[in-house]
Amino acid sequence: MKVLKFGGTSVGSAQRMKDVAKLISGDRKIVVLSAMSGTTNSLVEISDYLYKKNPDGANEIINKLSQKYYGHIDDLYSTAEYKQKAKDHVNGIFDYIRTFTKDLFTLFEERVVLAQGELLSTGMMNLYMEEIGVNSVLLPALEYMRTDKNAEPDPVYIKEKLNALLEQENDADLYITQGYICRNAYGEIDNLQRGGSDYTASLIGAAIKASEIQIWTDIDGMHNNDPRIVDKTAPVRQLHFEEAAELAYFGAKILHPTCILPAKLNNIPVRLLNTMEPEAPGTRISNETEKGKIKAVAAKDNITAIKIKSGRMLLATGFLRKVFEIFENHQTPIDMVTTSEVGVSVTIDNRKRLDDIVDDLKKYGTVTVDEDMTIVCVVGDMEWDNIGFEASIVSVLKDVPVRMISYGGSNYNVSLLVKATDKQKALQALSNHLFNN
Ligand code: ASP
Ligand code: MG
Repeated sequence: MKVLKFGGTSVGSAQRMKDVAKLISGDRKIVVLSAMSGTTNSLVEISDYLYKKNPDGANEIINKLSQKYYGHIDDLYSTAEYKQKAKDHVNGIFDYIRTFTKDLFTLFEERVVLAQGELLSTGMMNLYMEEIGVNSVLLPALEYMRTDKNAEPDPVYIKEKLNALLEQENDADLYITQGYICRNAYGEIDNLQRGGSDYTASLIGAAIKASEIQIWTDIDGMHNNDPRIVDKTAPVRQLHFEEAAELAYFGAKILHPTCILPAKLNNIPVRLLNTMEPEAPGTRISNETEKGKIKAVAAKDNITAIKIKSGRMLLATGFLRKVFEIFENHQTPIDMVTTSEVGVSVTIDNRKRLDDIVDDLKKYGTVTVDEDMTIVCVVGDMEWDNIGFEASIVSVLKDVPVRMISYGGSNYNVSLLVKATDKQKALQALSNHLFNN
């Protein structure tokens, strides 16, 4: 069985829901939906007002949002019977959200409010499928999707509960379920973080040993460079999971980075497909490597580089440990690292604790900070005994000042740190040279 996930814009209007309905008819499958686009943001806004003890502000957003849903209902269903069913469903949820405007509001209530977007969209879609004669059932994510005490998904629990639910409903032709939402180790309503519906799809795929996981969005797969910044980008047809992970982390917005691991571990291919162009091949991500190919370039902004130089590092043991420990103590992850015999440079993207980090590092050497930098990451088959790839990447950037270069950490990437103001030039030069000639 396949798992198909549709994001917020793919279910963002009645017409888009009807388009999705066409795509999910046919073979038996599990369909994961996000909230309709804009809904989760509105729920965040409602929560914000409630934290600030402003129920009027919250009610205004709730009323606006519910009006929008009444409009969608009118457009989506053709019979009075289903318009009424959908209205009852939507009203139930909005009445529930309104109860939170009268009471104490904490993190606990916020998570319940945030969960309503996916409950709205899946309930509506399921009713629509019923109306057009499909034997579809809702699989309640809150009954099988669960995180453990470390807020990590609990694959054993998920597998057992989900398969039991499927068994109970084994005469259905279509299963519809909520992305993003789950229960935590204490049984409370929780979520897999913003953008988490991709993760839901991947976890379900792993739990049922799906033949394929499809992530449907509104562009034709992962591009070989950022189409907002660079001319003449093209979709990449095939990627290794590790290549996709690098690209997702380094800013290719189309796939949530956490989504990749469960699919990779269970060897389930992931396809990125386009609801606006369903016949297009999209991008297939699997455990296969295309030998000798550079696939794509991605960039990550707002990077800070920190250099620690110390004569004492020469021949010393434990210097790197002390440096890394400082970042760990300040709960700041490191992205890139380069070293020399007398110094080490690292990059971070979370500047919250920068001043404290620099203070602590000064105990061990001279510290220099470069801000407003961008990591440019080139992804492909970069096995070290392939020759020429690093050389051609570096030579393309001969006119751009490069602050750090990192290669050899994986078999799949070369990362370079440049000034944010040189990003466009660097990305375009790489595209022209690597893909467009
Ligand atoms: N609706 C959630 C969000 O907007 C989850 C998702 O779309 O993946 O973050
Ligand atoms: Mg999304």
